[in-house]
Amino acid sequence: MTDEPKKRIFIGLIVFTVFLITAVTVGLYLIPYIGLKNIHPLAPRVVCITMGAVVGFLIFGVALLILTLIRGREIFWSHRLRGIVIEVLFPIMVVVGKILGISKAKIQQSFVEVNNLLIRAKCNGVRSKRILLLMPHCLQFNDCAIKITSDVYKCQACGKCRIKDLVELAQQYGVHLSVATGGTLARRRVAEARPEAIIAVACERDLTSGIQDAYPLPVIGILNDRPHGPCFNTSVDIAKVSEALSYLSKGCQKPRGTSR
Ligand code: SF4
Repeated sequence: MTDEPKKRIFIGLIVFTVFLITAVTVGLYLIPYIGLKNIHPLAPRVVCITMGAVVGFLIFGVALLILTLIRGREIFWSHRLRGIVIEVLFPIMVVVGKILGISKAKIQQSFVEVNNLLIRAKCNGVRSKRILLLMPHCLQFNDCAIKITSDVYKCQACGKCRIKDLVELAQQYGVHLSVATGGTLARRRVAEARPEAIIAVACERDLTSGIQDAYPLPVIGILNDRPHGPCFNTSVDIAKVSEALSYLSKGCQKPRGTSR
């Protein structure tokens, strides 16, 4: 799936979610209407104004989010919008997606894409030395005997896996490169490197949890390729890693020939 349909899944789901929340809110208002009147003559009006304000704020926030995603540039509050997407909207969308029969993997992919777009919508540029390239261990060729999790620069550059290209990229840009076997080690590597931004490669599930764990730290997520199934001899499109590195380290300028 390309990035545009991923974005559309998110927007479609979010519009549906807002519609659902609005309908539930109106329902909640209408059902106890008579009872509220019995409590106090002004109670229905107070409840109506409060609920209207909540739904209005929700619609405004979602409209702002959609506009930001479509424009690809900050209007305002894109940092806060990312927080709302991560902490509030994503969990709701997983539930709504389940009701609509959309797989969790697809929703996670769209979440990662939207996260990336919101980071790019307000990117201030970071120092190369403070960018962390965080890679999963399954990128390493399975039969390679070299232990690269402790020091990735032990790679002998045989070219049987993408680690060779990643080491070259890290040296070219002067960034940290770490290979982690799981979430605990990944968190430790982040704590050690204390980066200003992370470019992470992983499956949609690990990228989602990593983005949530690291927030408010910006994490650009790049989905790995899994030609042999999950967690085994995976790969990554090096051009995507290179573009993200170039974008972040060169003051958030889009490399020529890219659309975003
Ligand atoms: S490129 Fe490096 S990590 Fe990959 S198989 Fe060769 S030596 Fe091992």
